[in-house]
Amino acid sequence: MIDVINLQKSFGDKEILKGINVTINKGDIVAVLGPSGSGKSTFLRCLNCMEDPTGGSIIFNGVDIADMKVDINQHRRHMGMVFQHFNLYNNKTVLQNVMMAPAYLRCKDIDKAKKKNRMIKFKNMFRGSDKKEELIPITETKEQIKKEVKEQAMALLKRIGLEDKADVYPSTLSGGQKQRVAIIRSMAMNPDVILFDEPTSALDPEMVGEVLELMKDLAKEGMTMVVVTHEMGFAREVASRVLFIDDGQIKEEAAPAEFFEHPKDPRLQEFLSKIL
Ligand code: ADP
Ligand code: MG
Repeated sequence: MIDVINLQKSFGDKEILKGINVTINKGDIVAVLGPSGSGKSTFLRCLNCMEDPTGGSIIFNGVDIADMKVDINQHRRHMGMVFQHFNLYNNKTVLQNVMMAPAYLRCKDIDKAKKKNRMIKFKNMFRGSDKKEELIPITETKEQIKKEVKEQAMALLKRIGLEDKADVYPSTLSGGQKQRVAIIRSMAMNPDVILFDEPTSALDPEMVGEVLELMKDLAKEGMTMVVVTHEMGFAREVASRVLFIDDGQIKEEAAPAEFFEHPKDPRLQEFLSKIL
């Protein structure tokens, strides 16, 4: 699904990612570990086009998204992202937070199709009856889309037991509730993959469990996930592979049992000895 080839990123003359190579297949749960400042967030931000790589390629579903010409909005519909600090819109209700992106993008699709159809109709006026171009079928109205997106958002809220919070603002939620809303918000786009950047690091300890549970459920359903985390339990139990990023490079990549029982890289051995 994602092929990262020699990915490099510098800020000014500071080289942060020094040639990352990794393949992420459909259904993979990839845990990313590494010391603070090693480039883990920068790596995820490059995957999600929030940073422009300085070198290398990221082939996602066959398209190089490191190429400046790709449509970022089209790309992001297929790749969800969950942040350490939730990044919910505080001036929107919980329901609006979940609905906003899919409603906006699907309505925009209709506008685009209508515009295209106007052009096609115009061109068709000058074409012979055997050469007329077909119009793009538009089967839904914006009202129907909004209704559908709202139903899906409510179903997702129900799934995490927060349907009664649909009309409140995020500031009234606990950290664990905010993060679970952020996760279903990314699911509402039906993405191919969800990237998580330390999703439990900003939570009070008693709220970490509920967020990890939701992530485990997602993993069981076959969602492809890349998870930067310090939760060793999650990496061990849920991940299909674990990566160790240090100094802008992947220093080790292995299945969890191998990764934790027989670390080969000296820096990983040192890292694990400090946290386990
Ligand atoms: P991690 O997530 O592993 O803690 P980051 O990817 O956030 O590490 O950061 C790696 C390095 O890149 C850090 O030294 C950080 O200061 C630097 N960095 C990150 N973003 C920027 C930026 N926008 N401008 C300059 N330096 C940055
Ligand atoms: Mg980080």
